[in-house]
Amino acid sequence: MLCTDCQRREVIFTRPYSGERLCQQCFLSSVERRVRKAISKYDMLRPDDKIAVAVSGGKDSLSLLHILHRIEREFPQAEVIALTVDEGIPKYRDEAVTLSAKICEKLGVEQIVVSFQELYGLTLQEMATRVKGRRGELTPCSFCGVLRRKALNIAAKRIGATKVATAHNLDDETHTMLLNVIHGNILRLGRTEPSTTEGTAAFIPRVKPLCETPEEETTLYAYLRGFEFQSAQCPHAPQALRTEIREFVAKLEANHPGTRFTIYQSFEKLASFMKGTSKPKLAACKLCSEPSVGDICEACRMLSRLKGMEKENPAPP
Ligand code: SF4
Ligand code: ZN
Ligand code: ZN
Repeated sequence: MLCTDCQRREVIFTRPYSGERLCQQCFLSSVERRVRKAISKYDMLRPDDKIAVAVSGGKDSLSLLHILHRIEREFPQAEVIALTVDEGIPKYRDEAVTLSAKICEKLGVEQIVVSFQELYGLTLQEMATRVKGRRGELTPCSFCGVLRRKALNIAAKRIGATKVATAHNLDDETHTMLLNVIHGNILRLGRTEPSTTEGTAAFIPRVKPLCETPEEETTLYAYLRGFEFQSAQCPHAPQALRTEIREFVAKLEANHPGTRFTIYQSFEKLASFMKGTSKPKLAACKLCSEPSVGDICEACRMLSRLKGMEKENPAPP
């Protein structure tokens, strides 16, 4: 069967939601085109941006790094740097750091690694041990996400980056939107934009150029480009509810191709109605000077809780 785009080469991938049947070359180009389209649609990048790409070593972040590196070559004033956060998850993160270092070397992209240990004095593993067995307490994933975001912002400021690009794909975005509804965090929907262009001296704007690219396509992109990426799951995953949503959305998508786009676009419309009404003002945290919606940022509150646990009765085994 021949590719519906070039009409010349053999098909390797079919998009059920659009009916396109693509050869390898046309598939790779179409993923890159979609990323470029998202960048321009949401006004994510400027020609002279210094972009810190959050690279975890997984398929999404390696694909994003590769695509942004290609785009950057067309803009001599732009710069791409890889930022890797080492949370301190034995074996799992060690492998990811090694894999991302390899690809950065291959692309000739500088890589900066920051660790939870260096920034917060504790590894994620140590934090996880402190909360283990405590009911109703923090979970590793709950503090990992908050502390990783803070680490990226700190590292991006250190290197003078003007944007932080993260590799959240269409599936991630859809799952987060649905999770916000389930948790009753309806006001957060107004903040789930793929691009936060209004930065402050303390907050480096974030962009998500893969926000309209389905997960299976970033995986295939990474595979076809020959990247060696991490496929092992973090030992602290899965978060039960997110996994259920993932399965639910995957089933809907299989039975009704295009559902992810519809969910995403519906929330996007909702977010545009809510613009300005739901965004809390960011101020500097009184403890760390990082952006915060109150006097003390969420990360500092979590860290103080985690550090306090050392002094409390030890958690049950
Ligand atoms: Fe962090 Fe949870 Fe992801 Fe593991 S699964 S890297 S603990 S957010
Ligand atoms: Zn083709
Ligand atoms: Zn703080």
